[in-house]
Amino acid sequence: MPATPRIALVALDRPLDWLFDYRLPEAPDLQPGQRVRVPFGRGTAIGVVVELTTSSEVPSGRLRTIQEVLDREPLLDPRLLELLQFGARYYHHPIGEALVGALPPALRHGAPLPALTPETLWRLTAPGREALDGHTVRGRRQQAVLRALEHAGADAALDRATLAAATGLQLAPRELRGLAERGWLEATTPDPEHPLPPTSSDHVLTPEQRNAVAALDPDHPTPLLLQGVTGSGKTEVYLQMAERVLAQHRQVLFLIPEIALTPQLSARIQQRFPGQVALLHSGLAEGERLRAWEAARRGLRRIVVGTRSALFTPLPDLGLIIVDEEHDAAFKQQDGFRYNARDLAIKRGRVEGAAVVLGSATPTLETLHAATCGRYAQARLDNRPDGSHPPPVETIDTRVHPADEGLTAPLLDAMQQTLAADHQCFLLLNRRGFARVLSCDGCGWVAECPDCDARLTVHAHNPRAVCHLCGHQETRPQRCPECGEPLAQRGLGTQRLEQALARHFPTTPLIRLDRDSIRHKGALEEALERIRHLGAAIVVGTQMLAKGHDFPQVGLVGVIDVDQGLFSVDLRATENTLQLIVQAAGRAGRGSGGGRVLLQTGHPDHPLIRSLDAEQYPAMVAPLLEERAAAGMPPHGYLALVRVEAGAAEVARHHAERVAAHLLSAATDGLRVLGPAPAPRHRVNRRFREQILLQSTRRAPLHDTLGRARHAWQADELPRTIRIAIDIDPVSLA
Ligand code: ADP
Ligand code: ZN
Ligand code: ZN
Repeated sequence: MPATPRIALVALDRPLDWLFDYRLPEAPDLQPGQRVRVPFGRGTAIGVVVELTTSSEVPSGRLRTIQEVLDREPLLDPRLLELLQFGARYYHHPIGEALVGALPPALRHGAPLPALTPETLWRLTAPGREALDGHTVRGRRQQAVLRALEHAGADAALDRATLAAATGLQLAPRELRGLAERGWLEATTPDPEHPLPPTSSDHVLTPEQRNAVAALDPDHPTPLLLQGVTGSGKTEVYLQMAERVLAQHRQVLFLIPEIALTPQLSARIQQRFPGQVALLHSGLAEGERLRAWEAARRGLRRIVVGTRSALFTPLPDLGLIIVDEEHDAAFKQQDGFRYNARDLAIKRGRVEGAAVVLGSATPTLETLHAATCGRYAQARLDNRPDGSHPPPVETIDTRVHPADEGLTAPLLDAMQQTLAADHQCFLLLNRRGFARVLSCDGCGWVAECPDCDARLTVHAHNPRAVCHLCGHQETRPQRCPECGEPLAQRGLGTQRLEQALARHFPTTPLIRLDRDSIRHKGALEEALERIRHLGAAIVVGTQMLAKGHDFPQVGLVGVIDVDQGLFSVDLRATENTLQLIVQAAGRAGRGSGGGRVLLQTGHPDHPLIRSLDAEQYPAMVAPLLEERAAAGMPPHGYLALVRVEAGAAEVARHHAERVAAHLLSAATDGLRVLGPAPAPRHRVNRRFREQILLQSTRRAPLHDTLGRARHAWQADELPRTIRIAIDIDPVSLA
């Protein structure tokens, strides 16, 4: 008879690499994945049981006992525990932080699992239909709700979230109850055994789309790259794939870069699968997030739509993971547990036996390479269903046509024509604020952040000077503090471009999309809705404007300035600039708009500019892949960045040198240790940063070396004010 376990190995939310041993309480009914409260130091801590064993190396006198078992069943299933343990190892991050951090915040702090009351569903009654037909429904909001139900089909019953998504309104339960009191709606409860069927698609799939859906093989999951030009109908393909997987009674995890930036997408998924979607993102209130998570964990919601951290949602029958816009850097967490949700999605698929689809019009070089080598399968959508094409990119040489406040004469002419034809102009400028620098022509003084190595950006409202790194703000100085000359504002931001446009086109509606204009909840939805209903209009924005929005009336996309991105030395700057241009260009020429894409540059002969072609993205970036191969850079090599941070420059330097020494003495063959060197942003928020870059043609030496060196520097007992962070597969070296 096997010995009964007496010891639990528990992960605690502490920056330590090991699990803690605890004695089991009397008559425990304990399994890995359950939360426990344990004595820790002089207090207690909440942890997750990872393993049960029979013995411990901790002397029995010092072994403490679990105080309380918090859950009756595991919250994290064995597959998810495996994924998180892998993630902690791969990213060299403390296991307890990774594991406990995967739970919704309320559960980390010991809250009980919520009891889920079934969601009320709302159905249109016969009187409701009559009222709608007889135009006796006055309120705009009321009409919208009844219409949405009518549109969803006879007898459709939708939950509040789906109705909110369908109408674009924030609906309070009170409002729906009010409609029921008038007799227009009736409330019903869902039957978990018989979920609502998906609503039917508005589209018949094109042959390309059908092939793409068929390329998904849930039983032989090789990751699939869905590479489709902008506007080729990738979303429809995802939805049909999801439908296939749901029909096998399995669940779907749909990861998107940022929910707030693509409200249309989550609304579309909710409408298609009424009552089945759990939305998970950090914008939710804690209770809402917990309930959505729990509904997914219990299999009551069969589709999870969420941002990066939704990757760790427990799903009992996961069949498919979709990573939409897989090139988006938002999938990489930039602090703490620096995982890449796209890469861990591949791992999760393997652990769960679930299919994984990575979709993009502009895949990362890593993903393209994996598809070329055959590690990933590939499906392509080279055509748009409406037969339109992303327009060719035309360049405007700013040496010949100088820009005044960002605008050249040919661009202004083209805008005139577009607006005259009642179409819209989208102008991309990836820099928010008014002016980039505030400087003195008299003595050369430049306004800088007192706490960072960064110049202050001027913002137009109550005019302020703002640091985009740390958020420092001050009233915009009028005169040079050194010599008293009036200060000049140079370099263009979206606010200044907006002002200049208002002068050129005083009667045309003008909308600005950037983080400053889209602050409150619902602001982006409102702006997108306005754009959709306006005729001729100008929209100015940062990369926010290039996200998957689908507008039929865009006749012109103007890219104001690409040169900075093209000549930056950062690892992925060129790749990201090309992705941004192609994504922005993809907004043009849909529907009846026809369309032109104009790019202002001082380097029209740059080979990458000359080969810009939104329909041939892989061919276009082939030279970049060759460069990366020659330099041993990803995907032809592997990188890790070790950052050392301290309150004083000398201290950061000193410890960075010690860390580098540990790395050098642990280094195995084929690993290069570069640095330490001051980080490109040496001082941020009054802290100084040094960095060491590890580069290797194989993964193993990199991870082995890091593992050993890390133990060595941890044994050094560093002062608490020093922070060392490891970034595996960094997206940026800045
Ligand atoms: P992508 O995500 O690839 O940029 P979308 O999924 O937004 O493209 O689709 C672009 C447009 O094409 C949308 O308006 C969508 O409704 C439409 N569409 C998608 N599939 C079809 C189809 N099979 N027939 C007609 N229109 C379609
Ligand atoms: Zn001066
Ligand atoms: Zn700052």
